[in-house]
Amino acid sequence: MRIQDVLRNDREKWAAIWLPISKSDQQGAGVWRTLSCCGKTQCEVHCPWRLASKVMEFAGDMLGVSDDFLFKDVRGRTTTKQGVIAACKHLFSKEVTGHSRRRSGAMLYVRKGLPIQELAFLGRWRSSVVLAYAEEALQEKPMTLINLSIFYLSNYLTMHLST
Ligand SMILES: [Zn+2]
Repeated sequence: MRIQDVLRNDREKWAAIWLPISKSDQQGAGVWRTLSCCGKTQCEVHCPWRLASKVMEFAGDMLGVSDDFLFKDVRGRTTTKQGVIAACKHLFSKEVTGHSRRRSGAMLYVRKGLPIQELAFLGRWRSSVVLAYAEEALQEKPMTLINLSIFYLSNYLTMHLST
C-alpha cells in the first residue's frame, strides 16, 4: 500500500483507502472504501480516521501525495506479507495467518453493530465467510435488540446464499 492510497479529510473526519485488484474484484479496477471517525471525543485506538492520520504521520506525508510505500520496516525497507505476519507472531505470541487481521477487523465491526451487508461491502466478501465471522463474534456478545436483528439477518442470508 502506498501513501497516496490513503485519503483523509480532517474537517469531516473520515479516511478512505484504495484497495487494488483482488480475486473478488470482477472488473479488476480496484475500489475505494471510506470509513468515518469513531465519533468519540477522544478517538478510540481502532478509529479509522485516527489510524490514517497516525500512519501518514509515521510515513512523513500528512498530505498523502507521495507514491512511496506507507509501511516500512525499521531499516526503511518495504514490508512484506511474511514480515508483517512474523512481526505479529512476535508481538502477540500467538498463531497468526495472513487472514488474521482481516478476520479480527471483521469481528470488531460486527461487535460494534455494523450491518452484515455493509461489512461484506467493506471487506469485498461475496461468500458466506463473512457470516462465519459474524457468528463467531456474536457468540461472545450478549444479545440486544440490535444484535438480534443482525443475527436473524445473518441466518436469513446464510439460508439464501447456500441455496
Ligand atoms: Zn475517531
